[in-house]
Amino acid sequence: MKVIKKKNASFGKKLACKGSGFGEGMGGCGALLQVVPADISNNLSTGGDAHWFWCPLCGAKTFVSYNTFK
Ligand SMILES: [Zn+2]
Repeated sequence: MKVIKKKNASFGKKLACKGSGFGEGMGGCGALLQVVPADISNNLSTGGDAHWFWCPLCGAKTFVSYNTFK
């Protein structure tokens, strides 16, 4: 059985894999991903303000804005 839609399916955001990570040398695969806050990594603990997610398909890193889920 496959869940087509569940009640909180709108949670998160559909974001495209753009592979815009610095120095990654990857253009991303263009996949449309359902990204939830838990998927977002950041470097706040080291004084940075970057937020990004890793594409599960191609492994590229795509940066997102801080307020993506606000
Ligand atoms: Zn990708």
